[in-house]
This record gives sequence, structure tokens and C-alpha cells, in this order.
Amino acid sequence: MAQSKRPVCGHCGKAYGQRAVDSEQVRWPVGEQMPEYRGNGVVVKTGEPYRTTSRAALAAAVAATSNPEIRARAEADVAKMPEQSYMVTTRWIWDGESWWGGYKPFCTLRCALEFARKAFAAGYRPRGGAK
Ligand SMILES: [Zn+2]
Repeated sequence: MAQSKRPVCGHCGKAYGQRAVDSEQVRWPVGEQMPEYRGNGVVVKTGEPYRTTSRAALAAAVAATSNPEIRARAEADVAKMPEQSYMVTTRWIWDGESWWGGYKPFCTLRCALEFARKAFAAGYRPRGGAK
């Protein structure tokens, strides 16, 4: 896939900007492989996968009783339910062409200002004169 290069400043010539990435949440069953990315973008980074816990179920079970024996059994039951948790991570995707940052076509306002001053000093004036 062709990827666009970082834009180059029209004054100092330095490359500027960062890839504009979107994040997406990936979720899959515990014990299975993380699903592959199937989009048209570029995976810039994938977060560390983690397993969710069913906190709500556990909290409800614990809250349902004050009997420590039953509570312990409820907690054990919740812990034995792998289908209630799943794996999640975050992927950062770049579309291969979008950049953000800078002051197109300049890297900084300082470069834009210097460019404008030099252009002015060189005699450039807006078409039709200043308004
Ligand atoms: Zn610059």
C-alpha cells in the first residue's frame, strides 16, 4: 500500500506533522487468537491485550448476601465463568495518508511569518493591492 510521506515545510524544508490515527476497540473470546485487522489502513500500534472481569456479576453476587459462606461460593462461581469475560485491546489505525499538526504548508507559525516577511520584503503584494 502506498503511504503518503510527511508534509514538508514550504519555508524551512523540514518534514512536519504526525500520522492522524484512529483507535478501534478489538474484542474476542478468551482463549482464541486476537482477530487480525482486515481494514485498508495501517496498524500503527496494538495495545497490550487484557482480560475483562465480570465485575458487575461479582458485585451483585456479593451484595446479594451477607452470609460469608454463600458469598465465598458466589465469588468462586463468578470466577469459574470464563464466558463472561473476554479479551480486549486497542488498535491504532492510520489511513496511510492523513497527517495532522503544523500550519500547512508550514511547520510552525514562525516559519509562516518568516516566509511572509521575506515575501513582503521581496516586493510581493496581494493581487489588487492591500485592502
Ligand atoms: Zn518550517
